[in-house]
Amino acid sequence: MKTAIITGISGQDGSYLAQLLNSKGYKVIGTTRSYTLSSYSGLKYLEIDNNVHIEEVDLLDVFSIIKLLNKYQPDEVYNLAAQSSVGLSFEQPIGTLQFNITSVLNILESIRLVNVKIKFYQASSSEMFGRVNQLPINEYTPFHPLSPYAISKATAYWTVVNYRESYGLFACNGILFNHESYLRSNNFFVKKVIRESISISKGIQNQIKLGNIELKRDFGYSPEYVKAMWLLLQHHTAEDITICSGKSVLLKDIVYYIFEKLKIDKSKLQIDTNLYRPVDIEDMYGDNTKAKKIIGWEYNLDFFEVLDLIVEEEIKNFK
Ligand code: NAP
Repeated sequence: MKTAIITGISGQDGSYLAQLLNSKGYKVIGTTRSYTLSSYSGLKYLEIDNNVHIEEVDLLDVFSIIKLLNKYQPDEVYNLAAQSSVGLSFEQPIGTLQFNITSVLNILESIRLVNVKIKFYQASSSEMFGRVNQLPINEYTPFHPLSPYAISKATAYWTVVNYRESYGLFACNGILFNHESYLRSNNFFVKKVIRESISISKGIQNQIKLGNIELKRDFGYSPEYVKAMWLLLQHHTAEDITICSGKSVLLKDIVYYIFEKLKIDKSKLQIDTNLYRPVDIEDMYGDNTKAKKIIGWEYNLDFFEVLDLIVEEEIKNFK
């Protein structure tokens, strides 16, 4: 039986990845920064909370990680823990940089000291590319990060590459574009629009206030994207791979699609320029050729199909 450690187990991807690894017969250890603060609502929702061993670990403390690796001797470590909000990173730039960079360095250093055979997955982000000159984005596109979050992920990315090249670690970057699901936190765009639209349709709320929705982004579905994380660590060589749908969707079209589904009038939408980000880019989409060819990942979902799934799940569970 293989053993995997997933950091950030309480998050969207942590929950779906744990479900996937459980289904493949892995022993799954999930880390949290606090037993008491985490609700593990994702694991409970997927009814797998009893199949995951939870460990409280401070990823900023290298000795805690060394202890964890020695205790479980994992085959694979999936590092998903991060301050993951771009918006919040402008409010908390120092905390975001400190955590998102040091935690990765600490895990890599621990693997180097405990067992170089442990395979490592880093949750890298398309945000690292930022201002791009050419679309679609692929593994060779240069980085021009536009937020503290993006800077933290770009630094972590190069730390992974450096440990692979310097010490021969099987360390990979999965460069994921936006991916959504029912388990996404409520503060992210798609989930926020769905929840607030349902509130409007139920008469609980009158309007929805959004920032710049004249932007296009490449969106996918989390339960399918975690399969790429696993596939990446099963490949015979360590690679950095972009995981995306290959198409971008206008944010305004997402809002109007949800409005139409829930029979909401367009007048309920209010644009607030105070919610605009300091810097943003108009369009971003990636190229998933390498993911499909090298690790055999399959993805054919249209994002409006994904929206149908999430809206239905949200309506069913709405509180
Ligand atoms: P998420 O739902 O926000 O989960 C993030 C996890 O990180 C949570 O379990 C949280 O645990 C943990 N965490 C946050 N700050 C922490 C801190 N200071 N110390 C320790 N743990 C901390 O994110 P996700 O959507 O599952 O994404 C997983 C990873 O992929 C993240 O690294 C994210 O940056 C990256 N990523 C996501 C996307 C996307 O579209 N979803 C795209 C590209 C990359 P607590 O329970 O302790 O809060």
